[in-house]
Amino acid sequence: MKERKGACFALVALIFLVMASVWQATPVEACYGPHITADIDRNEVNINEPVIVTGQICPAEPNVTVRVTFTRPDYTWIDRWVIPDPETGEFTVTQELDMAGYWNIFPIRGHICDRLYANVTDPKDPLAPLPRPELPGYKPNISLVTVAAISISVGAVAATTGRKNKTRNISSLRLFVQIGFIFILFFGMFIDHRVVPVPAEQITPHEYLIINNVLGVSMPDGFPIPLFGCYYPCGKIATCALWELQTYIYPFWDVGHGWGVDYVSTGAMRLVVLFGSIILLSVVLGKFFCGWLCPFGLYQDLISRFRKALKIKYRTFSDRFNERFHQLGYVILALLIILSVIFGSQALFGTQLVSGTEKGGFIYNYFAAPFCQVCPMKPLCVLLQTSVGLMRPEWLTEATTGDFYQLGFYLTSLNLFVLGLVTVSAFLYRRIWCRLCPLGALIALFNRFQPFKRVSGIRLEKEEEKCTKCGVCKRVCPTQVTEVYEAKGGDVTASNCLLCLRCVEMCPYEEALNLKVAGKTVLKSRNWLES
Ligand code: SF4
Ligand code: SF4
Ligand code: SF4
Repeated sequence: MKERKGACFALVALIFLVMASVWQATPVEACYGPHITADIDRNEVNINEPVIVTGQICPAEPNVTVRVTFTRPDYTWIDRWVIPDPETGEFTVTQELDMAGYWNIFPIRGHICDRLYANVTDPKDPLAPLPRPELPGYKPNISLVTVAAISISVGAVAATTGRKNKTRNISSLRLFVQIGFIFILFFGMFIDHRVVPVPAEQITPHEYLIINNVLGVSMPDGFPIPLFGCYYPCGKIATCALWELQTYIYPFWDVGHGWGVDYVSTGAMRLVVLFGSIILLSVVLGKFFCGWLCPFGLYQDLISRFRKALKIKYRTFSDRFNERFHQLGYVILALLIILSVIFGSQALFGTQLVSGTEKGGFIYNYFAAPFCQVCPMKPLCVLLQTSVGLMRPEWLTEATTGDFYQLGFYLTSLNLFVLGLVTVSAFLYRRIWCRLCPLGALIALFNRFQPFKRVSGIRLEKEEEKCTKCGVCKRVCPTQVTEVYEAKGGDVTASNCLLCLRCVEMCPYEEALNLKVAGKTVLKSRNWLES
């Protein structure tokens, strides 16, 4: 009953905050906060021909200067400064493009910018090799390397010490893997981005270095992964599948460029690749990602460790409520897809179902990727990265519709509210977010339901005759899975099981619980009471 009241209170507070934010951010005389939108007269142009960039700032103000940066394919650039019309905010810039290849064009006001492009060809020599950006040699980010070395050493010491304790050795190893994986996931953080001579508002230099120079391919988003490898912070080598799922439907169904991405394929083709990767990874590894690799899982585990250190006991939901709560993940997943389809209706069906979805519109600027506007991982990542100097603080505050409590791009009031709520809740309830996480639900769809379940490569199995019904597995499970305890035997992997293996580690009966990978037992419970 108490938990229902808590959940209702949180829901009402969230709805209130959404309404307050949307109300605050409602367009006033077609201008809903500081923004800049622009267009270019053509995207395909011959060398030394001019292009015309027209745009508008909002609100229109006297004595405001707009900078339009034309970035050449070799990453040198031309800055043009223009004063918009004080009444309408409109501006126009004409510029000749003097190098063959792909140009990025950024109309910038303060720290807010739009992004355009032009593809320049040289008709006299159309097959000439295109210029490559000239970048200085890599320099490591010493402070980050130090932080990583310390964190991994602490993890290694914990894992080694933990090995002596039979009820903690898997958990200690898991902590070590979780910490180490963060540095792999955000590998670009190790490169000192200040050495890259690009305009301030250019794509994040880390991504450029990693994607083009290290991987050698044009992978604007990184590989889709079924964990919160958030799209928004810097230096990622892979990207959250939820971001791709939403944005490939809207706004990038048929648009190739914008927001620092540059696609050569259609939205449908990218969705096929996305689902192909997610299905493959989910079938082969299931929720192993959640138990062992997801940074947001680690965040919740650290909160639980902190609670434990304070000797405060965790709380539990009733089994019935926990089951319903878990089902919310599927509802959120369905909602984010439905909203993206509604927003993308113009490109998908040729009819705009809601206004503001056109380029530069309110929804385009602030509600594209709707789940990301409430996701708790985004503020956690960008705040952490900003605090260590990897992201510009202005990105958090200035690219918004106005005041802090309104909607923004890198940090929204809703994101912060959800992060705060999840943080407090995770202190009381273990892995609370994972019980309703839509990404976890996406993995479960392709692993725990037929026909995928039948071919799942990883599963938890129970030998009924060796289980004494002691109930340890049920008590130690961070997401309160009941199947391991209640099921008669065989495959007991539940859709909300994170494969953290805490139950296998704690089960005191020899081979009662076993982890099977491709049909082979790789881990089994041990009688740690008598050894
Ligand atoms: S905000 Fe959340 S859902 Fe969006 S990309 Fe980041 S982790 Fe994924
Ligand atoms: S369920 Fe938990 S561990 Fe899995 S993706 Fe979601 S937040 Fe990460
Ligand atoms: S059932 Fe076992 S492996 Fe799954 S989440 Fe619970 S404790 Fe972890």
